[in-house]
Amino acid sequence: MSKCSGDKQVKAKNCDPCSPPSVDCCSSAVTTEQNDSPTLWFENMIDNCYDYAIDAKSNSRPIVGIMCEYAPRELIMAAGGVPVCLCGGSAKTIPAAEDYLPANLCPLIKSTFGYHITKTNPFLEMADLVVAETTCDGKKKMFELMAETKAVHLMELPQKQDDSEAFEHWVTEIHKLKAELETRFDVQITPEKIREASRIMNRERNLRRGLAGLMKADAPPLTGRQLLNFKSIISGIPTDLEKYEEAAEILRSHSRNGDMSSRVRVLLTGVPVVHGAERVVDIIEESGGLIVCMENCTGLKPILEDVDLNAADPIRALAKKYFHIHCAVMTRNTRRIDYLRALTAEYRAECVIDLVWQACVTYDIESYQVRRLAEQELHVPYLRIETDYSPSDSARIAVRVEALFETLRSSYRTGQPCRK
Ligand code: SF4
Ligand code: SF4
Repeated sequence: MSKCSGDKQVKAKNCDPCSPPSVDCCSSAVTTEQNDSPTLWFENMIDNCYDYAIDAKSNSRPIVGIMCEYAPRELIMAAGGVPVCLCGGSAKTIPAAEDYLPANLCPLIKSTFGYHITKTNPFLEMADLVVAETTCDGKKKMFELMAETKAVHLMELPQKQDDSEAFEHWVTEIHKLKAELETRFDVQITPEKIREASRIMNRERNLRRGLAGLMKADAPPLTGRQLLNFKSIISGIPTDLEKYEEAAEILRSHSRNGDMSSRVRVLLTGVPVVHGAERVVDIIEESGGLIVCMENCTGLKPILEDVDLNAADPIRALAKKYFHIHCAVMTRNTRRIDYLRALTAEYRAECVIDLVWQACVTYDIESYQVRRLAEQELHVPYLRIETDYSPSDSARIAVRVEALFETLRSSYRTGQPCRK
C-alpha cells in the first residue's frame, strides 16, 4: 500500500461534473495496486453495473429504473428485477432537456430527462419499467413527459409523515406497485421473496453504515469523497456487498492518518450528490474540509433505518421503512432536524454545509430551519450553497467555503464563539 505524500487528498478542478476529479493522493488504506481492491472495484462501478444489467437482461430478469430513495427496491428485487438508479449527474445532457423543460429547474431532473431525450443512458434504454413517485413538482411533471415514450408506474407519495391515514395510503401504493410488477413481469411476489430481498438490502445498508461510521474517528482513514465512491447504482449486487465488507476490514485496521485530524469536520446536508455531480464535495475537501457526515440521499439518509424482517406483514414493514425517509418534500419534516441534531453530535461536525440544487424549492425553503438549528441551537457555523451542474461558480464557492473554515479557525485561536 502506498503512503500519502502530501497535504491534499483530492485535487479538485473546475471540470465538467461528468468527469469527476481524480483522487491522486489518498489515504494508504484505500489506495492499493491490487486489481481486485475495493477501491478499484467501485471506481469501475458504472462498468460493473452495466455488465450486471446486461447479464440479468440476458437471463430474462427485468431492469427497473428508479429515481428516488422512496422507491422500494426490495419489491423490485422480490419480482426478480434489477433496481437501477437513473439520476443524472451530467451537465452535458441538460441543453437537450431544456428543449422540453424550463431552464429554471433542478439540474438533477434536467440531466436525467436529457439522458432520456438523447437516449444516452444505457440503463434507461434497457429499462422495462421506470418507477416514478410524486415527490417534488419538477420530477412529477417530468415523469409525465417521460411516460409518453417509456413505461412508467407512478407511486403517489403522501407527504404528511406523521399522519396515520397518509401511512395507510402509502401501504396501498406499495400494494399497487406489487400488482404492477406481478402483472407486467408475470411473477408472483410472495412474502418470503420480500423478506429475502429485505434481508439483502438490510445487509447492504448495514455495511454502508459501517463504512460511514469510520468517519467518526478523530483521524478517519478516508475522505468524504472516497467514502462517496463506495456506492453502486444497482442495489444488492453480491460482489458489491463483498467489496463493502472488504473495504471496511482494510480501513478498520488502518493506522491513523494525522492529516485528517487537522481538517475542518463538515456535516453536508441538502440535496443528493449523484454520480458525476460531486463538484461541491471536491471543493469542500480541496479547501481543507473533511466531510465526516453526508446526511443527504447519497449518504446516510436512506440507510439509517432497516426493514423489520420479523414483521407479520412484510409489505407494511417495507412501507414503514420508506415512509420514514426525511426528505424535504415531507411536511412537517421534523425528522430531518432531529437527525441533523443527532448526527452533528455523533460525528462531531464543526460546521454544517447545506447544498441546494438550483430551483429545488423544498430544500431551499427548509434551509431556513437548518440554519436556525445550526446557528441558534447547535452553535456551529452554517453555509448554504446553491448551485447547479455548471462549474462556472466553482471559484466563488471555494472562496465562501475557505472563508467559513477561516472563521472557524480564527474562533478557535481567539476563543470567541464562531459567528458566520
Ligand atoms: S431528496 Fe427526496 S426526492 Fe430526492 S431522492 Fe431523496 S427522497 Fe427522493
Ligand atoms: S433535488 Fe429537489 S428539485 Fe431536484 S429532484 Fe430532488 S427534490 Fe426535486
